[in-house]
Amino acid sequence: SASPLGNSVIPIVNKLQDIFAQLGSQSTIELPQVAVVGSQSSGKSSVLEALVGRDFLPRGSEICTRRPLVLQLLQTKRNADGTDEEYGEFLHVPGKRFYDFSEIRREIQAETEREAGGNKGVTDKQIRLKIFSPNVLDITLVDLPGITKVPVGDQPSDIEARIRTMIMSYIKIPTCLILAVTAANSDLANSDALQIAGNADPDGLRTIGVITKLDIMDRGTDARNLLLGKVIPLRLGYVGVVNRSQEDIMMNRSIKDALVAEEKFFRSRPVYNGLADRCGVPQLAKKLNQILVQHIKAVLPGLKSRISSTLVTVAKEHASYGEITESKAGQGALLLNILSKYCEAFSTMVEGKNEEMSTT
Ligand code: GDP
Ligand code: MG
Repeated sequence: SASPLGNSVIPIVNKLQDIFAQLGSQSTIELPQVAVVGSQSSGKSSVLEALVGRDFLPRGSEICTRRPLVLQLLQTKRNADGTDEEYGEFLHVPGKRFYDFSEIRREIQAETEREAGGNKGVTDKQIRLKIFSPNVLDITLVDLPGITKVPVGDQPSDIEARIRTMIMSYIKIPTCLILAVTAANSDLANSDALQIAGNADPDGLRTIGVITKLDIMDRGTDARNLLLGKVIPLRLGYVGVVNRSQEDIMMNRSIKDALVAEEKFFRSRPVYNGLADRCGVPQLAKKLNQILVQHIKAVLPGLKSRISSTLVTVAKEHASYGEITESKAGQGALLLNILSKYCEAFSTMVEGKNEEMSTT
């Protein structure tokens, strides 16, 4: 099955790419990058992993993510016999396919140590990993080191400033979607995630608030007001999630089991009644998908005009040849027609989604 992220976008992108492939042009839709920001151990890596739906990122109670991990998901065709082949490839290990995802995690850890040492050092040198799978959409996710205040181990005294600069270099890019991750058992008003996201995206047009660790809040407290945006409003709103605890990680609890447990958590707590659209990893994926769909809608007119101009060129070429049946021009006209219809249907669909979104 597809990863939670991409359930609705994959078919759309596939269809468009099929249309373009018939016209002989390359992949056409560049989806925006998604980066996670927040304090150390707020649950950033856990959130990314849950979105991808595979276990492969180092996570833990100490500093784990010490280099930016640029994770490029690339969609491949399913095997003819219906089986899936999923594997990873690192830029620094050319030609080697990692089919075992726990080996991917070990390689991330080893490569982190090669560059940043074994004693909590942090560096801005990227690790680049591609994941090839029929179940993902072509998108780039960036896992970033968390903001820390007090230097430990080999960290320099200005560690906080260095990490902030590193994070900003990713999230200041105007197309980068920001997942601002704050643990529910910390104070939202002091959230590093919201603060740095606010610097990069002051109007909140591309920041989604993610509240983690709803399961370990103080007795008698809950995240209802946080999720409703009553504490700190955020244009695109918040989603609350429950990821695996350190104990779950040690007991090798699977992502699948964790999603079931998360669902049960929200269902069994009356305080989250009526907030279903703001609770759970699948909802976060849905929200991201809606934003990606809007992005695709925004780039469609450009794609259309590219097809039109290709068509004009081909038609001219055709005219210069005289009589040819089954011409490329004819095919181009047909495709343009299909795409136009598709754009209209698509716009209608997106408008529906927009209304849905503006109520959240
Ligand atoms: P990062 O430093 O922000 O990338 O955080 P990690 O994803 O590495 O998580 C830090 C620690 O918090 C790990 O031990 C996770 O198991 C734990 N953790 C993350 N999310 C949750 C959650 O929703 N609930 C609980 N109980 N623990 C979580
Ligand atoms: Mg991390």
